[in-house]
Amino acid sequence: MYENNEIFRIKNNLVISLKMNEIKIFSPATVANVACGFDVLGFCLDNVGDEMVIRKTDKKEINITKIEGFHVPFEIQKNVAGVSALAMYDVIKPDYGFEIEIYKNIKPGSGIGSSAASAAGSVFGMNELLGRPFNKTELTQFAIKGEALANDCEVADNVAAALFGGFTLVKSVTPLEVLQIPSPQQLYATIIHPQIEIKTSEARAILPKDIKLKDAITQWANFGSLIHSLHTNNYELLRKSLHDVIIEPYRSKLIPHYNELKKEAINAGALGSGISGSGPSVFSLSKGIENANAVRDAIKKVYSKTGIAFDIHVSRINKEGVKVIYSH
Ligand code: ADP
Repeated sequence: MYENNEIFRIKNNLVISLKMNEIKIFSPATVANVACGFDVLGFCLDNVGDEMVIRKTDKKEINITKIEGFHVPFEIQKNVAGVSALAMYDVIKPDYGFEIEIYKNIKPGSGIGSSAASAAGSVFGMNELLGRPFNKTELTQFAIKGEALANDCEVADNVAAALFGGFTLVKSVTPLEVLQIPSPQQLYATIIHPQIEIKTSEARAILPKDIKLKDAITQWANFGSLIHSLHTNNYELLRKSLHDVIIEPYRSKLIPHYNELKKEAINAGALGSGISGSGPSVFSLSKGIENANAVRDAIKKVYSKTGIAFDIHVSRINKEGVKVIYSH
């Protein structure tokens, strides 16, 4: 089954070839916040994401050798993929280095985890080439270091969703604890990405410092019932829980035609909609692909009238997270 001269490590009952030199991965886009789960909840998309190639090199250093799609820095200290890779490299200190190629399909600043896909992808790929010394929580820890470069603070909601897949709840960042929440089988996401720029720093700056107790009570009731609905496949409860009374009133002002978009999505059959990450992308969740497609058509109609360019995606929930395309 395996060549005689290959070296293997057995970890978690998996036989891993340490002779692997190159890996290509799909690193998915993710939706963070998910209405009432600000900074703690995320989910992973299936057909929207970046690709990356990670290769072992003789030189004991990490380099980004190719970037296609969108412009992000080549310098490893300025690229989230480089920062997370270095955080891991410094811990394990192998007697070889890595080069990274990034094929970006997720526009930076789109609100669907462009930086998280890169930060998670580099450490996932390196971990495979190293024989999987780290588990997903440890990989998330390294990826957070990269995310901190884009977000000015350590947040894990996008990177955890990208690495674990499905819905993830970041119970705490220090120490890092990620809970995997089940995804109902028929749940689909429709994502619209208006081509406008919202800086994450700006979207954070407009948030209030204090919130009313009455709003907090509504929010944690919705959040608790959202999590319960995911565990129990209760689409009706999910519909009643996807509301955000704390963040959305402020951030929605940054997204043109947000209220109309949301109204039409719900009229077309969405269970609920909300701002993805810090925007400008807006997500809707629907039961079944037909509803998700109807939502896509309805919001397309709204945005076609605005003159603002946009992309729309319909996706299953990706339960695996980052995926291997090939390795050798
Ligand atoms: P999103 O809003 O899609 O989640 P982010 O706001 O998280 O995107 O990240 C975008 C910022 O991170 C940009 O300023 C971008 O230049 C910077 N950045 C650095 N490296 C990368 C990378 N590899 N991929 C995406 N963005 C990166």
